[in-house]
Amino acid sequence: MTQLLDYSKEELREIFASLGIEKFRADQVYLAMLSGKDYDDNINVPKSVINQLIDKNFLMQSVKIIRKLESKKEHTTKFLYQLSDGNIIEGVLLSYKFGNTLCVSTQVGCKMNCAFCASGLNGFVRNLSAGEILGQVVAVNKMIGGTVKKREITNIVLMGSGEPLDNFDNVVKFLNNIMSKDGFMMSARNISLSTCGLPHKIEKLADLQIPITLCVSLHAPNDAIRNKIMPISKSYTIAQILDAVKYYNTVTNRRIIFEYILIDKVNNSPTHARELAELLKNIPCHVNLIRLNPVDGRDLSQPSMESCIKFQNALARFNISATLRRSLGDDVEGACGQLRNKVLKEKRDI
Ligand code: SAH
Repeated sequence: MTQLLDYSKEELREIFASLGIEKFRADQVYLAMLSGKDYDDNINVPKSVINQLIDKNFLMQSVKIIRKLESKKEHTTKFLYQLSDGNIIEGVLLSYKFGNTLCVSTQVGCKMNCAFCASGLNGFVRNLSAGEILGQVVAVNKMIGGTVKKREITNIVLMGSGEPLDNFDNVVKFLNNIMSKDGFMMSARNISLSTCGLPHKIEKLADLQIPITLCVSLHAPNDAIRNKIMPISKSYTIAQILDAVKYYNTVTNRRIIFEYILIDKVNNSPTHARELAELLKNIPCHVNLIRLNPVDGRDLSQPSMESCIKFQNALARFNISATLRRSLGDDVEGACGQLRNKVLKEKRDI
């Protein structure tokens, strides 16, 4: 089985040429599939060509929305998608007046096993291909009435399940394809990638000069605390991550976003705020504070709202710009991995 969404328009032209199909047919199929169309939609391609593609086991759409849950509280919609091999992944759409932000997954499951996150609870299954990452954008864009020419998704965050930099080549291919002038023409400025902090990969990404916004899940003001909640910190210290981040900032000139989940009695005291401010004082950055979303099977508690505001104010006193992200969509299990795990559990219970 070949997923056509894995390819750029040029690559699709070559594949079609090798089958003796004219180039302009590749262009038609390329635009149709980016708009979310499949073979049985009216795509203006002769039946003989379509049969040839189906015979070769070429898939136009590799990601199907199988469940959609709208949050009552906020403009948040949670999606479950099914992949062509039956695996299930999830995503979240945040709809604001200024546009629609889609949070996409990059792996089925995750290797990192962070103590606060649901994504790693069932282990790692596999990487998503570039086309399966793009397919999430295609499916949701279509669902909300967009096409390739009139794109409704304005922003992408690679912040769903998985560690994007652990699937480096497919993620970079996805970035190139979604930014391509042949397709969605998304600007790097409207794309953010969130990583648990793999220093060599951050540097490699910087060298590619794709100026997306880099978000780093720091979650701790020192290595001792980070060790307790993020197993990856046994491989890389905060100092190594910050060196890589400074390099990223120098090469791309983009401000870095640090994410910091506030966890009660773990990392949320005023002393921790001071320590964090000290770490970040020479880095052009912004801190996104996130109040922990409790996750079943993970033994950590949510701090009071009051203590979160105190933490934010403490950072402000040290001149670190920080926002406290409202918890969006928690009534539809908004935190990473929650919905997928729930569905998997339901399936086991049946
Ligand atoms: N592997 C990447 C991308 C995964 S998403 C990374 O580590 O950055 C990671 C983000 O999901 C975290 O920074 C946080 O913003 C969010 N997240 C995960 N579990 C959460 C939880 N229980 N409560 C709140 N936010 C959570």
